[in-house]
Amino acid sequence: MDSLLITNGALVTLDEANRFIHNGSVYIENNRIVEVGESSIDRNADRSIDARGSIVMPGLINTHHHLYSTFARGFTPPGSPPRNFEETLAGLWWKLDKALDSEDVYYSALLAVMDAARAGCTTIIDHHASPSCVDGSLDQLERAFRDVGLSGCLCYEVSDRNREGEGIEENERWIRKCREAEDGQMSALFGMHALMTLGTRTLERCAEIGHGLDAGFHVHAAEDPVDVQLTRNLHDRQVMERFEDFDIPGNKTIFAHGSHLTPPEMELLSSTGSMLVNNPESNMNNGLKVSPALEFLDHDVMVGVGTDGMSPDLLAQARAMYLHQRTRQRTPGIAFVEACRILLENNRTIANRLFNEPRGALAPGQLADIIIPEYVPFTPLNAGTFYGHLLFGLNFAPVRTTIARGRVVMDDGRMLHLDEHAIRARCSERAQRIWNRIH
Ligand SMILES: [Zn+2]
Repeated sequence: MDSLLITNGALVTLDEANRFIHNGSVYIENNRIVEVGESSIDRNADRSIDARGSIVMPGLINTHHHLYSTFARGFTPPGSPPRNFEETLAGLWWKLDKALDSEDVYYSALLAVMDAARAGCTTIIDHHASPSCVDGSLDQLERAFRDVGLSGCLCYEVSDRNREGEGIEENERWIRKCREAEDGQMSALFGMHALMTLGTRTLERCAEIGHGLDAGFHVHAAEDPVDVQLTRNLHDRQVMERFEDFDIPGNKTIFAHGSHLTPPEMELLSSTGSMLVNNPESNMNNGLKVSPALEFLDHDVMVGVGTDGMSPDLLAQARAMYLHQRTRQRTPGIAFVEACRILLENNRTIANRLFNEPRGALAPGQLADIIIPEYVPFTPLNAGTFYGHLLFGLNFAPVRTTIARGRVVMDDGRMLHLDEHAIRARCSERAQRIWNRIH
């Protein structure tokens, strides 16, 4: 048995009582939290961490990411700048994902998962594409998660854009593999790109196999009007009606974006218990309408927030979410509390639907996913002030230590179990080769 004791930290437990313990301790055995309390906890541990001058809180959860986007950093696609969403996809993302080989998939994920750990994220729900190496690609992502130590929920984005039904078998294989795994580090959804790239036969096969495996789905929905128009023109259906035709909505299914969904479609999300993940910085970056988080909340939809491959920084997404809502509605009193709750509470609910091990709170029995940001509040820290500290202080504070599944994976900015220098050197070589393949 491995044990770890964190002492002298300012604990933000996010537990049922929402306790703040100003000088607190957390005791961990293997990958679970055993005890949370005052610093006088009397335990002998294999290792102890003095968290003086720091916050101790649950690791953050990213509910929509694309790890394969790593090597896009700094890349300028050939040709003229995109004029619309379809040109953004075809001109950059569908060229980049096609240029990746199996080792590129591993290294892009490795860098992105390391960045996540450094940004205080311990669980990632990813949506993957690599058309030149579909089979086994999710194993490469798993390898990266296991090397770094974070938890991952993976899927392959099925589409008809290269060949009909590409990725169906990879989802099926991966879902079965996760069911047989001995631990709960990895989990699975059935991935699909978006209605705009999915024909009827492919949707039928995805639905049949996904339902046969009792899996949830992970798919983009109404990110841009083109998804809505194509669905209407080809099938005379609204986006959510079309998904409903194949019984895709449900309480284990994630729809990403939903920016152009109508109120009745929001009702459908709500009545089916489906999850809707907003990605505000990504929408802004693509010059698209930002998904209306508050409207989804009004319809009682389980709204989460993700980074959509933009960055590992979840606090930045919560900030972007509330800032956007305020500027859009020209109202200074809205969305701040909602954005924080979406990040801390709803993302936790979403992860807890998809993983067997409970996470997202400092409480006995919870998975020991814990971050220690270096942050000394100079105004009172309590349940009434925490969100202010979160988005005006903690977002600028370095994460000193990240503990994932009971293991210290990052300390003082360094990944303890990995040769980062060597990894970055390999990645630089690979990135240049990938860029050459695209030009
Ligand atoms: Zn996405």
